Amino acid sequence: MTTHPSTHPSKIAILPGDGIGPEIMAQAVRVLEALGESFEMERADVGGAGYAAHGHPLPESTLKLAKEADAVLFGAVGDYQYDTLERALRPEQAILGLRKELGLFANLRPAILYPELAGASTLKPEVVSGLDILIIRELTGDIYFGKPRGVRECPDGPFKGQREGFDTMRYAEGEIRRIAHVAFQAAQKRDKRVTSVDKANVLETFQFWRDIVTDVHKEYQDVELEHMYVDNAAMQLVRAPKKFDVIVTGNMFGDILSDAAAMLTGSIGMLPSASLDANNKGLYEPSHGSAPDIAGKGIANPLATILSAAMMLRFSLNKPEQAERVEAAVKRVLQQGLRTADIFEDGTQRVSTEQMGDAVVRALG
Ligand code: NAD
Repeated sequence: MTTHPSTHPSKIAILPGDGIGPEIMAQAVRVLEALGESFEMERADVGGAGYAAHGHPLPESTLKLAKEADAVLFGAVGDYQYDTLERALRPEQAILGLRKELGLFANLRPAILYPELAGASTLKPEVVSGLDILIIRELTGDIYFGKPRGVRECPDGPFKGQREGFDTMRYAEGEIRRIAHVAFQAAQKRDKRVTSVDKANVLETFQFWRDIVTDVHKEYQDVELEHMYVDNAAMQLVRAPKKFDVIVTGNMFGDILSDAAAMLTGSIGMLPSASLDANNKGLYEPSHGSAPDIAGKGIANPLATILSAAMMLRFSLNKPEQAERVEAAVKRVLQQGLRTADIFEDGTQRVSTEQMGDAVVRALG
């Protein structure tokens, strides 16, 4: 899982998508252009825009570009006008298709609460101010994909003969090893602490998970490893979230915990995410959707997309110093009191999507 510096300019697939996607993407692209690097950025339609132009949410040409590129920067997909289409043609299928086709198995979601936005959280400012944690969710295994699954006749017990729904929780050793490597390597770039979240006291799958994570840890003696049951982790996330650094967990627990962690910060327009494959190639996108309710009004917050671009610089393009420049610029504009409508508070200055982009570009220095 190492990224080698290459001689050719990094190729980035730019997939703006629908709703506010094009507006927020335009600002992220400006920030990337202002870094003074020679990126090759190529744009393609995806989601509803893909369906409108090519009859499919993930057109062949878009998939080809995404496969060829070193990284994918994704806006958001979805619009009410496509809600009546059959499921396979709905915009949201594009993201599922890209995850599958690109083999993206590791979902990285930082939850960062800038001290300037501490008032946006539902938790007390002293509990969350300065929060900086990274949740790593395994994305392609677990009970969400395990087979067999379905509805059948209950074979035994007091409900024998009735219909029952069932799913299969399973994790192969290799699946656990690769996500554990991602977590330990991410921790090496941070505070060097990993909390592996499981339910080893009840589930065989997660006792196995714990054993394998413990084994992989032997290769990362500079990182501290702690195991925690998921119920306790949920409690600690709202009680003392700042005690975590990197949390790694399975698909289902990660689904729930990452949303809870996102809401600790109170502002969905601020949260980036990354989904990585085994070679650190990744798809980077804001955690929010296409926000059709505010599309075209010039008020969407572009910072989650700009911070997603920063993650891309760090994890896929091997430019950690540029990632830090972008993140520092975002901090600076918040310190200057600039706010899009979603994070506006009295005493701060309300700015448009484009003005926020301008400010970040200026703050790059
Ligand atoms: P949403 O995240 O789009 O919006 C939820 C609320 O947050 C809305 O009030 C919206 O205005 C606000 N919001 C979201 N992003 C914002 C930003 N950057 N700045 C300011 N405000 C912002 O979720 P939703 O309304 O449930 O879904 C809308 C569409 O997005 C649906 O079609 C859904 O399927 C799709 N969606 C796509 C993705 C994705 O592309 N990965 C993820 C989630 C939802």
